[in-house]
Amino acid sequence: MGRAESMIRIDGSFGEGGGQILRTSLSLSIVTGQPFRIENIRAKRERSGLLRQHLTAVRAAAEICAGQVEGASLGSTALTFKPGCVKSGDYHFAIGSAGSGTLVLQTVLPALMTASGPSKIVIEGGTHNQAAPPFHFLERAFLPLVRQMGPRMTLQLERYGFYPAGGGRFVVEIQPSKTLAPIELPERGEIVSRRVIAIVANLPRHIAQREVTKVADVLNWGPELTSVEETKNSAGPGNIVMVEVGDSACTEVFSGFGQLGVSAEQVAEEVAREASDYIVGKASAGEHLTDQLLLPMALAGGGVFTAQKINQHSRTNMNVIETFLPIRFKMREEEGFTRVFLHPA
Ligand code: ATP
Repeated sequence: MGRAESMIRIDGSFGEGGGQILRTSLSLSIVTGQPFRIENIRAKRERSGLLRQHLTAVRAAAEICAGQVEGASLGSTALTFKPGCVKSGDYHFAIGSAGSGTLVLQTVLPALMTASGPSKIVIEGGTHNQAAPPFHFLERAFLPLVRQMGPRMTLQLERYGFYPAGGGRFVVEIQPSKTLAPIELPERGEIVSRRVIAIVANLPRHIAQREVTKVADVLNWGPELTSVEETKNSAGPGNIVMVEVGDSACTEVFSGFGQLGVSAEQVAEEVAREASDYIVGKASAGEHLTDQLLLPMALAGGGVFTAQKINQHSRTNMNVIETFLPIRFKMREEEGFTRVFLHPA
């Protein structure tokens, strides 16, 4: 990957070889005004090329900056993106499948949260997808941290969208901040908030009840920390169980999805174990929050946070970010966590 004249070249098969390489490139191309060409899009995924979620992200990115795109079609494995000027305002992005709406939002958010005016975005598609940030994770973990950097943002879930039916809808309102304050998340402090919530959409309540009971059992939490939500406000069936844990600076959300052939107890036990690993550790950011904080941190040009685990997704994301911005990520292994910070390139 590198800069050839003014066109940045991105190899989509690099590192993890997934959709994040494309989404991060789009976000930073708009913010920095640098055009890029990406080849081998999602080369290491089973169905490579642009799926609906990625195509919607490309179109959304082009729309918010009147950018020019070549290669934006389903299945495409290469595209060229030339950004224009960011325009804040009202936008509506519909994925047309259960593809993740939160990943589409995260593609355009960096530009719109640092734009010159407010925006309102309506997104239709998946709101609670496996292998993507669930809406509640955005609401409770990711956005509160980004808000601390300056932009004001509100999120409203209007309809659940679970795989495979999709059809969810949420609204984001953004009051931008031209500059971003560096993120500062030292070692995690004392846990001050704990909660487990299970949601069932068009499915029996007992599934959610069994999940929260199991999580509470594994974590040794009382029933007052559990809640169950039953909704019919969803096109199809769906189930998610989420464990929320926070200190005074940061909240983490761990999720598990109900699946045919997997018992509610199994789903719950897995999430509870994830949360438990986090609780006994000293890091502020779990694995997913870690890879999602990298881009805002780089845009702020400084800051530090403690990470539970640096996985390949994060490493690949760091590399793409460093291709667009004059910064270098630094990592220091300390007892029980990795400290992540920035250096100028
Ligand atoms: P693809 O090529 O299939 O599109 P991708 O790169 O988009 O791959 P992943 O690498 O699986 O997909 O992850 C996408 C994003 O979703 C990452 O930022 C990851 O942290 C986030 N994510 C995945 N699972 C969760 C979860 N349970 N909670 C919060 N965020 C999650």
